[in-house]
Amino acid sequence: MTAPAHDPDCVFCKIAAGQIPSKKVYEDEEILAFHDIAPWAPVHFLLIPKAHIPSFAQIGPEHAALMGRIMTLAPRLALEQGCRPYPEGGFRVVVNTGADGGQEVHHLHVHVMGGPRPWARG
Ligand code: AMP
Ligand code: ZN
Repeated sequence: MTAPAHDPDCVFCKIAAGQIPSKKVYEDEEILAFHDIAPWAPVHFLLIPKAHIPSFAQIGPEHAALMGRIMTLAPRLALEQGCRPYPEGGFRVVVNTGADGGQEVHHLHVHVMGGPRPWARG
């Protein structure tokens, strides 16, 4: 099996490799979830593939299973992290992509935000 793509200059690759600490929410062989360091909401965590994929723009059919797993984990982890149940609760899922999309960290990540309002942002 080939090792997952890794960019030595990428902050989220470093988090995935345990070289930078994170407050972990979930981990398996190919996915990591951790709390955002600057939360917009009472619950704010990021889901990332451990492999270095620069953004959502690079996603193709070969990533269908991975993205399916990430999106399937999101509602489960949202509830586990304290988001209130749908419909009175819920959460927001955001994938900033590229400069126009407001992406700052160029390693694909899915934001999950929730908890009672008001939020710090958004
Ligand atoms: P964006 O690329 O704009 O979708 O957002 C990147 C997100 O990563 C921001 O919400 C940051 O607060 C978050 N972030 C950056 N560095 C870290 C880190 N070391 N640990 C946790 N979250 C981070
Ligand atoms: Zn990376």
